Amino acid sequence: MKRITVAKGDGIGPEIMDATLEIIQAAGAQITIDEIEVGEKVYLAGNTSGISNESWDIIRRNKIFLKAPITTPQGGGYKSLNVTTRKFLGLYANIRPCFSLHPFVSTKHPNMNLVIVRENEEDLYAGIEHQQTDEVIQCLKLISRPGCEKIIRYAFEYAKQYGRKKVTCFTKDNIMKQTDGLFHQVFNEIAKEYPDIENEHWIIDIGAAKMADTPEAFDVIVMPNLYGDVLSDVAAQIAGSVGLAGSANIGEECAMFEAIHGSAPRIAGKNVANPSGLLQGAIQMLTHIGQADVAEKVQNAWLKTIEDGIHTYDIYKEGISKKIVGTREFAQAVIANLGQKPNSFKPVSYKENKSISLPKYRRPEPQKKELLGVDLFVHWNGYQADDLASQINSIVDGDIQLNMITNRGIKVYPDGFPETFCTDHWRCRFKKSNGEPITKSDIIRLLSKAENAKIDVIKTENLYAFNGKPAFSLGQGQ
Ligand code: NAD
Repeated sequence: MKRITVAKGDGIGPEIMDATLEIIQAAGAQITIDEIEVGEKVYLAGNTSGISNESWDIIRRNKIFLKAPITTPQGGGYKSLNVTTRKFLGLYANIRPCFSLHPFVSTKHPNMNLVIVRENEEDLYAGIEHQQTDEVIQCLKLISRPGCEKIIRYAFEYAKQYGRKKVTCFTKDNIMKQTDGLFHQVFNEIAKEYPDIENEHWIIDIGAAKMADTPEAFDVIVMPNLYGDVLSDVAAQIAGSVGLAGSANIGEECAMFEAIHGSAPRIAGKNVANPSGLLQGAIQMLTHIGQADVAEKVQNAWLKTIEDGIHTYDIYKEGISKKIVGTREFAQAVIANLGQKPNSFKPVSYKENKSISLPKYRRPEPQKKELLGVDLFVHWNGYQADDLASQINSIVDGDIQLNMITNRGIKVYPDGFPETFCTDHWRCRFKKSNGEPITKSDIIRLLSKAENAKIDVIKTENLYAFNGKPAFSLGQGQ
């Protein structure tokens, strides 16, 4: 018996959760349930996170959380429970299978069957933002080696477990050579450990276009957080079944499973909602907790119910569907099909009855790190980079020199173009002319001189080489 935490959520949540639990228990799921209250009632009782400390204790103790959609009340101050849960519990992998149910649910992509594996914790979603000048705000994009290793290894292990043939990586490393470059590099390293699984990398823009046009060309796609967020919705939508998709959020210790849709308040309490999205989440949960035989039984019964034309109103179509049913009746139809296999759809077979567990990350030997220079970011209201350069040149001494100035990344000094539009946010790069390392004291001296010269430094960024390789981007046009 596996003890799990269940939250019935808001709106249609209780109905679809009851239906889902009834189906998986009828299929023989070995679970005992601790129910917690999250969402609207908790928010409106004055808890801005939508969940009590006691509920956190239960989630952390059971480690497996099946969650129905919740309603986040309108108005400021309420924090998204989904984002908080992912971060608090270290749920680094978001898994969204997107497959078409042609010809029983209409789609332009009858042969689509892919899985998006989205990194769930870092990238621009670290939520580190600062306004630095009147005109410029930054958001830090953080990509870490352990973050890349975990999500990419998870994607390959997932492919192995589910008999998928190919893992594709999407990045924008032609532009973000350091951050997305690391993701791509780790992908290449880990792909070598899985010689039986095909691997490929696409630049995200053309990759996304290809996915929207020819999704059947993809199998498993792994990508950093923001791209995964956007493209998993696209993939679910073009499968023709955003209301049918489930999602798993996986961490080293804990995992959360859910439907991708919301609480649909307008149809709540009417016994019309489709429980399939949450059921798909629950099926992912069952394979995760080592009950793949039950997951397989439920999935095959569900596929059979869909191809039998027993449909809830959202996918009901005259001429294709046979019978329109409510939430409870749909659940009963799936239960009646337990033990049967679909005829038109290929029956699923989840053989390896184990959850995916990854080796613990071990920090490798530290690399040799050298400080090669510093970028001082300056708030300056002028327009001509040459004017700023002559002010800056007055603070340099010894062999540390002003190497370049960029504005929004583009080099504007030396030899800038007058056509380049400049904001009030200037990056001034300092290095030794002979390329030798500098010291932290050099930086402190520069900062102190800048302060005396009334140059408004709003941020510094050290320029490092790791194991002799410069690890910072050049100015565009440099
Ligand atoms: P929604 O997904 O609830 O509804 C969008 C449309 O899809 C509606 O027309 C709805 O009736 C329909 N729909 C959704 N699920 C359905 C189902 N199972 N069966 C049949 N029809 C279904 O999105 P929304 O209306 O933008 O959001 C409603 C509430 O849900 C908001 O408070 C939002 O914050 C919340 N929400 C929660 C989650 C979550 O908890 N994971 C996710 C998204 C939205």
